[in-house]
Amino acid sequence: MKGSLLIISAPSGTGKTTILKKLMSDIEGTVFSVSHTTRSPRSGEQNGIDYHFVERDIFQKMCADDEFLEWAEVHGNFYGTSKTEITRQLNDGLDVFLDIDVQGARQVRSSEDLQSTSVFIIPPSWQEQENRLLKRGTDSKEIIELRLANARKEMSDAPSYDYLVVNDSLDKAVEALKSIIIAERSRQRRGPEGKPLSMPPMS
Ligand code: ADP
Ligand code: 5GP
Repeated sequence: MKGSLLIISAPSGTGKTTILKKLMSDIEGTVFSVSHTTRSPRSGEQNGIDYHFVERDIFQKMCADDEFLEWAEVHGNFYGTSKTEITRQLNDGLDVFLDIDVQGARQVRSSEDLQSTSVFIIPPSWQEQENRLLKRGTDSKEIIELRLANARKEMSDAPSYDYLVVNDSLDKAVEALKSIIIAERSRQRRGPEGKPLSMPPMS
């Protein structure tokens, strides 16, 4: 496979979706892995773009048929990454962003076939994270409470990620992530745009 996987995890409301949207318009050679989920679409979310929204029985059949690279139950819903989609994108030489939770990240990191780099995004404070969830205005009070309670547990996985980024200023967080991608590409002898570097002739 030519591309690599970039795992991005963060407690809900930290700003990971916002960062990824901005970053993807700024950097070449990357795609976002569209997960399958049993969660209901939020206002403005589009099927096939934000997620593949599926019923529980479909999700369970996909699990039974071993169609997921990883899957997990998060905040009471199921989420999973399709193997077929990822393999095609990596073979096309693209770097693939996986916006997945800490359980999924553990599964991908333990894969022997796939190389991955992981980034954990941290909110500047718990208060700010709560403010952002309220400001987003997409979830009920109960769902926000559940997501805030889970955030503390998710944060305990942060030390096992390769990189940590604080999303205080959005522009700085996007820049930090961009630098990580370029550094990782250089490690794999690829240029900032993601293509293999060609060595100049020796004579
Ligand atoms: P996540 O995908 O991590 O759950 P979102 O990307 O949906 O989070 O962001 C949650 C809310 O926080 C959104 O309303 C978004 O506009 C806002 N937000 C994201 N990053 C910042 C930031 N750096 N400063 C202030 N607000 C932000
Ligand atoms: P949301 O419902 O806010 O879109 O996502 C909730 C959580 O599910 C986030 O932590 C997000 O990273 C995670 N998530 C989204 N897609 C996947 C996936 O395919 N697998 C796993 N394990 N987690 C996912």
